Amino acid sequence: MINRLKGYRRLGYAVAVLIFVVVGLPALLARGCGWESEAPVKEEDGGVQVKLQVAEGKIVSMPLEQYIVGVVAAEMPVSFHEEALKAQAVAARTYTLLRLEEEPQDEEHPAAPLCSDPGHCQAWIDTAGMRKRWGWHFRSSYNKIAGAVKATSGQVLTYNGELIDPVYHSSCGGKGTEDAREVWGAEVPYLKSVRCTFDSEKKQEAVTTRLTWQEFYKRLGVDEQAVPAAAGGGAVEIGERTASGRVKNVKVGSQIISGVDLRKQLQLRSTDFKATASDKEIVFSTRGYGHAVGLCQYGADGLAQRGVKYNRILTHYYQGAKLETR
Ligand SMILES: [Zn+2]
Ligand SMILES: [Zn+2]
Repeated sequence: MINRLKGYRRLGYAVAVLIFVVVGLPALLARGCGWESEAPVKEEDGGVQVKLQVAEGKIVSMPLEQYIVGVVAAEMPVSFHEEALKAQAVAARTYTLLRLEEEPQDEEHPAAPLCSDPGHCQAWIDTAGMRKRWGWHFRSSYNKIAGAVKATSGQVLTYNGELIDPVYHSSCGGKGTEDAREVWGAEVPYLKSVRCTFDSEKKQEAVTTRLTWQEFYKRLGVDEQAVPAAAGGGAVEIGERTASGRVKNVKVGSQIISGVDLRKQLQLRSTDFKATASDKEIVFSTRGYGHAVGLCQYGADGLAQRGVKYNRILTHYYQGAKLETR
């Protein structure tokens, strides 16, 4: 299961990180304030060290809990509620330990089990990266994230006593999450579609992607000449939708393409879309960002803002999973 989900999870991480990158004040400003060091995170990790490839040929090693601070800092905006940050910390820790247990040797970077590339493993930034991101607010931001990590120290999610694969995404768009089966074809008992109307209003707004027909067919690898109705825009038809209302498949000419593949090939933000065709172009209107499976980050923040604690947030998105301390 882990291998099947990995690529998509990584895509999810990449997407999450892309939209979360906030350009802070220059690092220079932060350094000028005399903040020499951040509060150390107490080592309550049972001595687990994480080896991480941060650049080609450059490996760093650090205690697990310190690593998790860098992941949460990279994966969520620091403005999120602390209960959402705690939920993210538990998901990041669970993913890390799962990787260390199940895939200690990675083909892409054999010298370290994990890398800091959000397009491959899990996003991570060091304190220099945090200074750059948070600028003047480095100190308070660091303390907020480190506090969330420390409050959940050693906590992981399990299902039937085994670590879960805690996939997550940026925003479900307020539609509720998607069943893992619809995205990866695998039945995962704790990755079912759950209600989520908690994303911020802005995250529930539709986003438009316009493609010329030429670009559309090129990205799909479809021979435009073989689609007779292309010029009139009548060659694309949305077929079935999943139980959560996302596009399951699309008919392009005589071909049936899954919503998941279409999203990937056209680089759409999600499979929750409508398409409008005209003579010149096809316009996609998408809601949400990411594969929509597992924890919805913006939804987690919305729940936290409503007073829901991180353990309940986690068991809402990962139904049947248990919070355990290792
Ligand atoms: Zn990697
Ligand atoms: Zn959501």
